Amino acid sequence: MMIENENLTDSAENGANYDVLVIGGGIAGEEASLNLANMGYQVLLVEKDLSLGGKMIHLSKVFPTLDCAACITTPKVSETMRHPNIKILTNSVVEDIEKNGNGSFTAKVVKKPRYVIEENCTGCQECEDKCPVVVEDQYQYGLVGRKAVYVPFSIASPRIVAIDIENCILCGLCEKVCPADAIDFTQEIEEIPVKVNSVILATGFNLFEPEVITRYGYGKFKNVVTSMQMERQLVPTRPYNGVLRPKDGKMPDNIAYVLCTGSRDHTVGNPICSQVCCMYSIKQAQLLLGALPMADVTIYYLHIRAFGKGFCEFYQQGIGMGVEFVKGKVGRIHEKEDGNLILRYEDIEEGVVKEAEHDLVVLSVGLLANPETKGMFSNDSLALDAFDYVKQVDELINPAKTSIDGVFVAGAASGPMDIPDSILSAGAASSETASYIRRYHEK
Ligand SMILES: Cc1cc2nc3c(=O)[nH]c(=O)nc-3n(C[C@H](O)[C@H](O)[C@H](O)COP(=O)(O)OP(=O)(O)OC[C@H]3O[C@@H](n4cnc5c(N)ncnc54)[C@H](O)[C@@H]3O)c2cc1C
Ligand code: SF4
Ligand code: SF4
Repeated sequence: MMIENENLTDSAENGANYDVLVIGGGIAGEEASLNLANMGYQVLLVEKDLSLGGKMIHLSKVFPTLDCAACITTPKVSETMRHPNIKILTNSVVEDIEKNGNGSFTAKVVKKPRYVIEENCTGCQECEDKCPVVVEDQYQYGLVGRKAVYVPFSIASPRIVAIDIENCILCGLCEKVCPADAIDFTQEIEEIPVKVNSVILATGFNLFEPEVITRYGYGKFKNVVTSMQMERQLVPTRPYNGVLRPKDGKMPDNIAYVLCTGSRDHTVGNPICSQVCCMYSIKQAQLLLGALPMADVTIYYLHIRAFGKGFCEFYQQGIGMGVEFVKGKVGRIHEKEDGNLILRYEDIEEGVVKEAEHDLVVLSVGLLANPETKGMFSNDSLALDAFDYVKQVDELINPAKTSIDGVFVAGAASGPMDIPDSILSAGAASSETASYIRRYHEK
């Protein structure tokens, strides 16, 4: 099946459907797509999730300015969605990218069924109200439930439902109540061959899964949560109407952060610094002091990495607000009967092992490479660095360049990175892409 696109231009008159294939619709993929679309190039943006926005759309505020993350990212998402030069496929992945002799690429886009006719669904959620199935909500990081037919999250783009067919019991209620005849259980996987002149990898990062460090009890002790779960508790679209302990719904008043959970740690196979955890933890601590003015917040750290513009001042601001910083390595966490947690840690300054009690523990989980990126290329042709991120073959002079001429990398796909750096990196990738297209396809 050939892809439908009213903007199809037979780019550069060499038979390509699009000038650029951008893979990943987080902040880096959106920025790169918009830059190129504004230069007049035709962009195909493929996102595996049900919505654009990546991790940023789920964040509370951003360091060091404490601007609202959604207020910054949703206008960019809307601009991307509406741009006449950008075609978007969500719930889709890319396979078999192969380079042709003339410098262009062929690839296969695999679009998974939503079981909903996208053009018909108005997002009214009547189906969602009636659906009897409740499962864990992945967009609230498991803190609450969602239905088997669901709008992914309130600011999703596109804001239409999808059916989670693995959990659906096929009762047919959604189909019966939908006023727009949008439910369609006959949808199947579509395979769409595409030809493009260049590729941008903006596939981002994965979060470290802290169950691996069994000493911290994540998954066993309910009041041990991840930093992403805390982000969700701090956003306006939060699952509860305030910050609560998941075990008993009580308001916490003595919260601990464990930095470097799954970063700078050879024992879990991730020896590098995740670059953002110190700063997002200091951000969350400041937001918690606003949300829970009587609470104490303690950050257990090895080193504070506050290297960016305004970061050191942001750290000092945290100290000034009363956040306690303890230079200590947390070895083990125990749960008491009342759900409180005992942290056993090495106080690095005093050189002794100590214990401290907290009523909520946040694990500041690190960033890991996304292993899917390499598998998209035929013959394993894409090179990775020592930590499995996309290799920047000319890191100092041309940071967007990968091992394949015509394939560029943007954002955290090439390594841990904050939002401003992801945007800069997307700028570099888009200008390199434009220059590649001019060199090879506009002669
Ligand atoms: C808890 C936490 C708090 C943070 N707070 C801040 C902050 O306050 N300020 C700040 O500057 N930074 C913060 N960050 C860092 C920020 O999240 C990253 O800088 C940013 O998300 C990087 O954007 P990206 O687009 O490169 O990657 P991502 O946000 O990971 O987006 C990648 C996109 O690619 C898609 N994708 C992945 N694989 C495929 C595939 N195979 N096919 C198609 N699509 C695919 C994903 O679904 C996703 O939409 C925080 C990070 C965490 C974990
Ligand atoms: S058919 Fe599936 S998605 Fe629809 S209401 Fe029933 S369980 Fe929910
Ligand atoms: S599928 Fe139908 S009922 Fe459900 S949100 Fe869309 S239009 Fe409304």
